[in-house]
Amino acid sequence: MKLPPGVSARDFDTAVQRFQSVVGPEWVFTNDEDVHLYRDAYTPFYGEEGEIIPSGGIGPNSVEQVQEIVKIANQYGIPLWPVSTGRNLGYGGAAPRMSGTMVLDMKRMNRVLEVNESLAYAIVEPGVSYFDLYRHLRSINSRLWIDSADPGWGSVMGNALEHGTGNTNHHDHFDSHCGMELVLANGELMRTGMGALPNSPSWATFRYGFGPYISAMFGQANFAIVTKMGMWLMPEPEAARNYLVAVPRKADLVPFIDTLCNLVNRGILNSTWQVASPLLSSQAPEIAELVRNGAPVEELERAGHAANLGYWGTRLRLYGPPEIIEAEWKYIQERLSAAVPGAMFTPGHSYEFPIDPETVEDPPDDLFARASISIPNLNIFSIGGASRSQGHIFFSPIIPMSGRELVKAQEVFGQAFKDLGMHPPNFIGGMAFFKRNLVVLFGLPVSKDPAANQKLRENFRALVKVAAANGWGEYRTATAFMDDIMNVFSFNNHALRRFHETIKDAVDPNGILAPGKSGIWPKRFRESRT
Ligand code: ADP
Repeated sequence: MKLPPGVSARDFDTAVQRFQSVVGPEWVFTNDEDVHLYRDAYTPFYGEEGEIIPSGGIGPNSVEQVQEIVKIANQYGIPLWPVSTGRNLGYGGAAPRMSGTMVLDMKRMNRVLEVNESLAYAIVEPGVSYFDLYRHLRSINSRLWIDSADPGWGSVMGNALEHGTGNTNHHDHFDSHCGMELVLANGELMRTGMGALPNSPSWATFRYGFGPYISAMFGQANFAIVTKMGMWLMPEPEAARNYLVAVPRKADLVPFIDTLCNLVNRGILNSTWQVASPLLSSQAPEIAELVRNGAPVEELERAGHAANLGYWGTRLRLYGPPEIIEAEWKYIQERLSAAVPGAMFTPGHSYEFPIDPETVEDPPDDLFARASISIPNLNIFSIGGASRSQGHIFFSPIIPMSGRELVKAQEVFGQAFKDLGMHPPNFIGGMAFFKRNLVVLFGLPVSKDPAANQKLRENFRALVKVAAANGWGEYRTATAFMDDIMNVFSFNNHALRRFHETIKDAVDPNGILAPGKSGIWPKRFRESRT
């Protein structure tokens, strides 16, 4: 058991008793077996001194209980780490940033509070998973779509707060939220936007309310606990179509990305896509061998041409009435053909709605097929299954959605991987998770071997610096590296971090909410910053 720093065993025990009287003894977890579940399964510190071990977990069932818990935490100085479902795998799971923090596990608060069919939104509690919201919508015969993150067991709210993304036209989850209810660090309840106006019917429709747009500062932050959130949903379209696009040459990447970017900016491409090399996923043994051996570009281009695969490719998804999709697809083909001679176009899966979810089969080459038509699932966990990987953490730098910038990122990260003695990834691609940007995502394997993990940590930190030297920063990170990321957002002697800290000290003077989250440390623990 790890006590919170600076808290005596006696005070901790008293606080635990008080927590028990609020939520019931069975919902306060302090024995090792239970606390183990709140460790990060993918920690890069497995079994080492630096591994973050919480002091316990608390499972409230109502907003009032959260308020009571916060008041007690203030009294005894118990730091709390709020999670919604705590499934933030690859970015720290349910584990806090600082050992001894108690996990405030809001999984039991899993009510869908409202669904508005014509305005297309839902208001949810923290513990509502994609599966929960999906089932709820089906049970009331709603024709609204959720946009699920890759694992359907995650929290609609938690994922949005962490700036997570999905697959459909509503893939930017924080951008799709509207209106929050918050428990502040002093236990007070606050609503943002139109929610501040009692009985407003626009809480989940008009996000700005009046005055500063405060909701934005509760994403990836530790200024309050979110207990309700409005989420815009997508009316079920008449159809969804998938298309594969490929371009023949390595050098086509620049016009390929730039044209896709233009299609995004025009509002023609509204769902997520990612550019990768189809050669990488080819089952043909001769192509796999060329890739493995790092064959020269001309040879790879030739093989890609012979197999009709191309050198770079992407899958595009369009939603809407079939005639509009057809027109958009025609326009996309014209634009891409004009920009990239030899661009290839292949229609893929096509769906008409409503659909019977049981009959949807996942095409073997498309893990995200179900999620892309609003059916939450856990297919993502089949990746790496065969490799016996013990998990991974993500290195997720953001670059502008520009072909030249991606080519530069390929060179920079390719070289950095070599310099660090890591196997440089073939064909570094980009994920269009956010408009006007690409995420250049790397999953770095964690291990149970401390020496390997130590190397991983060094490499990760080195990559953060290499990225920053080129002006690229991560959009999200595992708890272990939050300080490293915040450290490079250093304009004008860390003015942004100092501003975060000023807010933190003002709204949470006792430093009880998620110390260290996103590199924001309260005064009380500021010396813990690494
Ligand atoms: P998911 O299970 O969807 O991946 P989590 O519940 O693990 O998401 O949440 C991800 C992170 O977002 C948490 O570690 C926490 O820092 C923050 N977070 C989640 N829910 C809340 C909340 N209700 N209030 C404040 N912060 C939250």
